[in-house]
Amino acid sequence: MSISEERIKANFLELVKLNSPSRKEKVVAQWLRAKFSQLGLSVEEDDSMPETHSNTGNLIVRIPGKQAEPTLLMSAHMDVVAPMENPKVIFEDGIFRTDGNTILGADDKAGIVALLEVATVLIEKKIEHAPLELVFTVCEEVGLVGAKALNLALLQSRMGFVFDSSKPFGNIITQAPSNVRFYCRVEGKAAHAGVCPEAGVNAIQIASRAIAQLPLGRISPETTCNIGKIAGGGATNIVPDFVEVWGGVRSLDQAALEAQNDLIEECFQKSARELGGKVESEFTHSYSGFSLAPESEVVKRGMEAMARIGVDGQIASTGGGSDANVFNAIGIPAINIGIGCQGSHSTKEQIAFADLCNLASLGLAVARGPIFDK
Ligand SMILES: [Zn+2]
Repeated sequence: MSISEERIKANFLELVKLNSPSRKEKVVAQWLRAKFSQLGLSVEEDDSMPETHSNTGNLIVRIPGKQAEPTLLMSAHMDVVAPMENPKVIFEDGIFRTDGNTILGADDKAGIVALLEVATVLIEKKIEHAPLELVFTVCEEVGLVGAKALNLALLQSRMGFVFDSSKPFGNIITQAPSNVRFYCRVEGKAAHAGVCPEAGVNAIQIASRAIAQLPLGRISPETTCNIGKIAGGGATNIVPDFVEVWGGVRSLDQAALEAQNDLIEECFQKSARELGGKVESEFTHSYSGFSLAPESEVVKRGMEAMARIGVDGQIASTGGGSDANVFNAIGIPAINIGIGCQGSHSTKEQIAFADLCNLASLGLAVARGPIFDK
C-alpha cells in the first residue's frame, strides 16, 4: 500500500533535469506519457490551448475508481520559471537544491512526482480509490494560462486538489486573492529641456507624483499593490512626452481590490490634471480569488487525508494565485496543498526529500478518501 521512496527520488531527479519553461512544456509531457503508458494508463491531451501559446496542451490522465465516490481532480503544473537549463542538482542532508546557477524546479515538479507516485501505487497494488482525473497544466507561471484554457467538457471532477503551494507541507490553502493588473500610459508634451522647458509637460513628473501618493506593498492584511515596471522618456535634454507604468493589485476582499483600483486611477488623473498632461489606464482582471469554508467537502477531505497520514493539517490563506483560483472560478471547488518547497522562483530553491514522500502519501490518502479507513 505504501509509496516507494527510491522511485520518488529517481523520478524527481529525472524530471528536474528536463528544461520546461512556460510554453515549452512538451519535454515534460512526453516524459509523463511514457511513465503513464507503462502503467497502462492513457494520456489525453487537451487541445483547447492555441498552439502559439505552448508546444503541448494540458494533459489529463483518468483513473477509473469506485463508482460511489465522487470524481476527484488532482493537479500540478508542468512549466517552471527561468533559469532552468542544465541544472546541477545536489542532494545533501535530505535536501534537494542546485549549485545556485539555476532554479531547482520543485515548483511544481514535486507535485508532478507525487501524482505519478499516487497513480503508480494505486495501479500496481490494485488499491480501491475514488475515480481520479490527474490534470497536468501548462503555462501556470505566466498567468494560469493553461488552466484557464482547460476544456471543461473533458472533466467530471466534483472537487480539486492542487499540489502547488509554496507553503510548508501540512498547509491547506482555502483562501487566495483576486488579481488585477493595471497599465497607465501617461502623456505629456515634448520640448527642449534647456531652450523652452515651459512649453513642455513632463510625463515622468506626472507619473512620479501619482506614484508617490499611492500606498504600495501590503496595504492591509488582505490587500497588496505593486508597481512592477516603468518605462519612458528619451533623452536628458528633452522634456519626456510619455511614460508607461505597469503594476498589479491583489486582494482577498473584492471591495478593497476595487477601492485600490479606483485610488490608482484617481492619483494618476489628479496628477495629470495638475501638471497639464493626460493619462489612459487599463485594468485587466487576471484571475478571481476564492474562499472555501472549513466545512466544505473539499477542505474536509483535505484535512481528513492529512489526519490519515498522521499530520496535523493547517488551514491557511495565501497572497499568490495558482491553478486552484481557476478551478474554483469554473465551479470545481479546489484547495491548494503546501508542497514545502523553499525559495521557489529563485536559484536558492530547495525541497526536502521527506516532503516529496509526504506529498505522495497525502495524494494517496486523498485518492482513497473514506475508503482508506476500510
Ligand atoms: Zn507553482
